[in-house]
Amino acid sequence: MPELPEVETTVRGLEKVLLGQRIARVELRRGDLRRAFPPDLGQRLTGATVTSLGRRGKFGLIHTDRADTFVFHLGMSGKWRVDAHELHAHDHLLIETGDGRRLALNDPRRFGSVDLVATGEVDDWGPIGELGPEPTELDAGWLRERLRGRKAPIKSLLLDQRLVAGLGNIYVCEALHRSHIDPRRAGGRLSRDSVTRLVAAIRDVIAEAIEAGGSTLRDYARPDGELGYFSKSFAVYDREGQRCLCGGTVRRLVQGGRSTFYCPQCQR
Ligand SMILES: [Zn+2]
Repeated sequence: MPELPEVETTVRGLEKVLLGQRIARVELRRGDLRRAFPPDLGQRLTGATVTSLGRRGKFGLIHTDRADTFVFHLGMSGKWRVDAHELHAHDHLLIETGDGRRLALNDPRRFGSVDLVATGEVDDWGPIGELGPEPTELDAGWLRERLRGRKAPIKSLLLDQRLVAGLGNIYVCEALHRSHIDPRRAGGRLSRDSVTRLVAAIRDVIAEAIEAGGSTLRDYARPDGELGYFSKSFAVYDREGQRCLCGGTVRRLVQGGRSTFYCPQCQR
């Protein structure tokens, strides 16, 4: 499932193809993903020039000179392919540029979304308006204030996009492991030191994953043209029964319906 680093890597890949380009053609191959495509999407994008790209949480942003922003979310299984000259199953939306490149948004499970938002309103737009700070801008004092009195496990709290934007299951597990915090601990019971360590760990695991994406993707796309997916070795995620660096054994438990991977020996 794409998390912040995958979305960031995707946006950087799209930037190389789209920045400064005129959108020559848009093809919608169905009417919706998680929700309906904007009915005038093709009309508003065709002929527009891409002026910049960005990301907020797990939303990718493509800004145009018509003061429209194309906002995409990759959901559970979304990805963009570059130079998608042959169509694949689940290619739901195609964008062709003035210089003849073709991008395909592919999403087998269709939990992703595509919206067109006035550029000046993106920050306040629906799901983006509710997002907490980016992991890189997270402040330990602010987070501690937000966690005060919270009885829910820190693992579950960190998945709430209103607390920190863009974190998902993988990097929450990794950040809690790196900061030696037991995922079952109540958010409000973390010490000042623990929260400080946690904030640093979140920032580092995200930065390293983006870095790994940048170095693993030769240039910017895999040989098959897919953007944003890369394999990274994790310390605990998906490693149930394997050895932790501390010599302990990685365990799995289920919290809020999601698997948590952690090491009971070094996470307290
Ligand atoms: Zn350990």
